[in-house]
Amino acid sequence: MAWATIDNSYARLPERLFTRLSPMRFPAAKPVAFNEGLASELGLESTASDLLTDLLKTGTIPEGFDPLAQVYAGHQFGGFSPQLGDGRALLLGEVLAPDGKRFDIQLKGSGRTPYSRNGDGRAGIGPVLREYLLSEFMHAVGIPSTRALAAFSTGDHIYRETALPGAVLVRVAASHIRVGTFEFFASRGDIDGVRALFEHVRTRHYPDCETPFEMLQAVMLRQAKLVASWMGLGFIHGVMNTDNTSLSGETIDYGPAAFIETFHRDTVYSSIDQFGRYAYSNQARIIVWNLAQLASALLLLEPSPDAVLKTWQQSIDDFSGIIEKARLHAFGRKIGLSSPNSTDLPMIDDLLSLMQEGQADFTNTFRALATDEAARDQFLDPAAFDAWAERWKARIANEPDPRSIMQQANPQQIPRNHLVEEALQAGARGDYSVFNRLLEAVTMPFDPRPEFAWARVPATPENAVQRTFCGT
Ligand code: AMP
Ligand code: MG
Repeated sequence: MAWATIDNSYARLPERLFTRLSPMRFPAAKPVAFNEGLASELGLESTASDLLTDLLKTGTIPEGFDPLAQVYAGHQFGGFSPQLGDGRALLLGEVLAPDGKRFDIQLKGSGRTPYSRNGDGRAGIGPVLREYLLSEFMHAVGIPSTRALAAFSTGDHIYRETALPGAVLVRVAASHIRVGTFEFFASRGDIDGVRALFEHVRTRHYPDCETPFEMLQAVMLRQAKLVASWMGLGFIHGVMNTDNTSLSGETIDYGPAAFIETFHRDTVYSSIDQFGRYAYSNQARIIVWNLAQLASALLLLEPSPDAVLKTWQQSIDDFSGIIEKARLHAFGRKIGLSSPNSTDLPMIDDLLSLMQEGQADFTNTFRALATDEAARDQFLDPAAFDAWAERWKARIANEPDPRSIMQQANPQQIPRNHLVEEALQAGARGDYSVFNRLLEAVTMPFDPRPEFAWARVPATPENAVQRTFCGT
């Protein structure tokens, strides 16, 4: 069998959590990328690529899979949508990798489902390649993320403002369970549904937790680390709705996601984020809000909610402090500190303020700290940086090896927005060479080799990307 052990645990949950169905057929489907490294981590044989092609072309479900669309709800930009779900995705099933880890294999862009609402269930080549690049980069820098196993062109077109080439992404995740999945059942007063989901998530992701409250705290810890590490990369998710916040603590649903170039705390790229709800620095607040929604759902499992309300509320209040600690840790490493403490935060925030005032390139400034390049050249007013640098040098004087800490925390190559845009545009013309070149550079993010120098050059005013789009 081309697949490792298949074991569809989600499909064994109560039927109201999903709808079984088969993907659409795409007779002209062709693979445009296949992730050999991930395939072998999952214990897949090389024929997996052929089986996926066959699945898309003919609808033949590989033996053992039991495809289904998952239902969920979600707060989108703060407003509650009681009925969302996999509107353009299908969970094929779950594989157990040779190391025993369980992964969802999902198709994204595979046609309409009962949860498509007015959508066509389809994806375009642009968003598929963007998610491939960004998610594989995230994984390469060590940030939990869904991953890309393969991308296919469907050989037909989808219609947005214009006709675009259709595509399907084969996505791999520890699971695709979202805060919104809990909200779906909680909002209907379906306590048995919330309980079934809780038991599933607990067993699957948090086996050391016994109670809903313990699990809530464990989710908070993972999400604190996740969002802090996003901020340490200058990453802006762009649509941190509760349906895009995963219980496993992985980055999920890249939509309009983008990386900051010239640093500014209020940066927003998403064309639909009119009020900057999901701006760079707001992400630390929004995750608190999102997990408060999870808390409300899990609270339904408490026999006497009133008795525990204070404790639960307190833990939501304490969450900001946990995020701040995680941010200190993430940025501490970026400036070479092996064990940063809270007195280091002002120095970190001062650097960010200087970068904002000095219009410094986020990635290249931190990279310069870690190498022999002059970081001061990144600032409009290099002298302003010099004073900070004195403070910083004094602080790291006793660190045994600050440079190696920084070299592992500050990537050389990131998927810069204009490079991603170029790769997507070429992909839309059927030329995947630009995508492949960028994928290689960003999946070796810490490799300083000169061949990747082009990927370290910031955008110019002419090619800078100001807005990104969901592509839905
Ligand atoms: P997103 O903002 O991409 O996370 O999507 C939010 C919701 O809209 C999810 O339930 C998606 O499944 C659904 N959706 C997005 N695009 C489409 C589409 N083209 N067809 C059907 N449903 C979609
Ligand atoms: Mg989503």
